[in-house]
Amino acid sequence: MAESTATKLTCKILTPRRRTPLRISRGISAGPCIVWVRIASGGIEGWGEAGPFSTGTHTETREEIEDALDRASAAIRSYGPLERQRITGAIRSGPGKTSSAAMAAIDTALLDWLGKKVNLPLWRLWGLDPAGIPPTSVTIGISEPEAAAERVRDWLQGEMSAEKLFPGGGGAFRVLKVKLGSPEGIRADKAMLDAVVEEAGGADIIVDANAGWSLEDASEMCIWLHEKGIKLLEQPLAASGIGDWRRLHAIAPLKIFADESCLNAEDVFCWADAIDGVVIKMMKCGGLSAALSMLNTARSCGLSVMLGCYSDSTLSNSAMAQIAPLVDYVDLDSHFNMTDDPFRGAYVRDGRLIPDDLPGIGVTLHEN
Ligand SMILES: [Mg+2]
Repeated sequence: MAESTATKLTCKILTPRRRTPLRISRGISAGPCIVWVRIASGGIEGWGEAGPFSTGTHTETREEIEDALDRASAAIRSYGPLERQRITGAIRSGPGKTSSAAMAAIDTALLDWLGKKVNLPLWRLWGLDPAGIPPTSVTIGISEPEAAAERVRDWLQGEMSAEKLFPGGGGAFRVLKVKLGSPEGIRADKAMLDAVVEEAGGADIIVDANAGWSLEDASEMCIWLHEKGIKLLEQPLAASGIGDWRRLHAIAPLKIFADESCLNAEDVFCWADAIDGVVIKMMKCGGLSAALSMLNTARSCGLSVMLGCYSDSTLSNSAMAQIAPLVDYVDLDSHFNMTDDPFRGAYVRDGRLIPDDLPGIGVTLHEN
């Protein structure tokens, strides 16, 4: 039976600042822009976040997201917040271009609403165990070797260390994600990686080339990275061209993960024989429900799973932390790099991003 309470969706644009610009193979990513989505009904408000993003081959702009949310707002009004299947169906069958980022915000807000309604955090509602959450990696963007070494020191001992960000238990970050695929070529990549390895101490290193290499470069780098002790390489090749991926996978001595190539569960199914794992992100898959579907598809294909982010705030990363007990790798660090993120939520303990005990996605506003 339909809920009779009216459901209202409102949006607010936020533009938090970034501490350090992030450079990847496609260039320096733009400053964060967040559409904060609130869905209110029956005196309860569920929160979600949508943000512009690009995989290189799939882009969603702020204008497209706002337009999609505007249309969704009209579709949602006649349903109750528990009617997620009907709401999703109405949005998908409506006019205009669909936006996975807009869907992510709506799905997250509806699930946050549900958690608040039953007064349980989503991880508890789903019976998950936060003790099983892997440590989160923190990102070193493409830079000169000395600047990369400085950034490592900042994450491990400096202003950005887990203990500085979350005093009294944050511990230390234990995994570094290094962005390679420099436009200056693999010689520059090797010099940067060497500088990071030198400073990393006991921290693990994983590499993300963001589609920046040819098959020839990727084949050479796979062997070289393996010799350096790197066990995981993300998106070495362009988003399409599965034949090259199969060739690389056949010779690679380390795990190959797809990010830009796999937006959703359907992509995972198509790419499964060319990779060892996939990266799931809120904006590209379209919300926590879609993330779970992508995760389950990956598992049924025998793949490993990483949770990742674009320029997402504490809101989205705290929502993703709700399902982090189910995955092998966590890379939810974008909000650490914001100077004025308005949200508080998941916290770091011993280098791991842990969802709090508040209901829903556990996100509130900073008190200031
Ligand atoms: Mg990636």
